Amino acid sequence: AAKKESGNKVVLYNEEITKEKNDRYQVEDRLRKAINHELIEVYYQPQIDARGDVLTGVEALLRWTDEELGFVPPEVFISVAEDIGMIHRLWEIAMEQACCQVRKWNEDRDVPLSLAVNFSAKQFQDPDALVRQVKDFLRKCQLDPVNFEVEITESALLYNVNEISKALKELQDYGISISIDDFGTGYSSLSYLKNLPINTLKIDRSFIQDIKENHDNTQIPEAVINLARSLQLRVIAEGVEEKYQKDFLVDNQCTHMQGYLFSKPLTKTQFEEHWLRK
Ligand code: C2E
Ligand code: MG
Ligand code: MG
Ligand code: MG
Repeated sequence: AAKKESGNKVVLYNEEITKEKNDRYQVEDRLRKAINHELIEVYYQPQIDARGDVLTGVEALLRWTDEELGFVPPEVFISVAEDIGMIHRLWEIAMEQACCQVRKWNEDRDVPLSLAVNFSAKQFQDPDALVRQVKDFLRKCQLDPVNFEVEITESALLYNVNEISKALKELQDYGISISIDDFGTGYSSLSYLKNLPINTLKIDRSFIQDIKENHDNTQIPEAVINLARSLQLRVIAEGVEEKYQKDFLVDNQCTHMQGYLFSKPLTKTQFEEHWLRK
């Protein structure tokens, strides 16, 4: 009986694996189609100077709702796109929509908005080509490089460090800012902070969500804020959902933030209605 049981388990296990594989193939297949037909849309999440609740910029975040699969979370389709070699195409879609859009918004503003775009480590295999392409996008849309930010995760810095560092240096020399996304979650050595051209640390939202009303558990955000200050880097908090988190951050000199407390990521139209037509 034991044998039969384990036999059944093997069958079940195989069926599960087969199903997962099929799901994966389906996502790949639908994603290729969505990319080719540009059915993927950029959403904009406001970035705020919380001292006066002033809008300072936006982060571009991709959204994909498929006819068959429904809403697919970015974590899922970004990683599929990386695996099938289409992450750069997704980035091009984000750049195409967002750069010209933000330039247009800035035409009516005294203080221009900054645009932050997420870059994947996989895109840095040919640093010269990437840098050239970033410059081309900014030039084509006439977006000032000082209003553009590259976001790259801390964990991404572990891959092709030399290529990444070369590209980031050139981008920074061109006037672009470099932000380390999800900072504190990458398990990497802090020495890269000295050697890489970095402007901003973005405190990961898991640490922000650790900040409770009684201000227990605030050691990590405090440490990151102090680290940024001693290295003369800017710091921004992501995932701010509660007023007491915002207050804690402002009291500790982290003035810039992003999160549902201010706004979820919005479509172009929603962003214009809520943030530009006041
Ligand atoms: P990320 O770059 O760290 O983006 C922040 C994520 O936190 C976004 O999730 C955003 O919607 C979410 N978020 C913002 N404020 C809050 C909050 O107050 N509470 C909570 N619970 N969440 C908040 P999203 O849009 O699902 O994106 C997930 C990740 O997918 C991004 O993390 C980024 O790593 C990746 N991603 C999205 N768009 C792109 C892209 O164009 N290229 C690349 N390479 N990655 C992208
Ligand atoms: Mg980001
Ligand atoms: Mg992040
Ligand atoms: Mg993230």
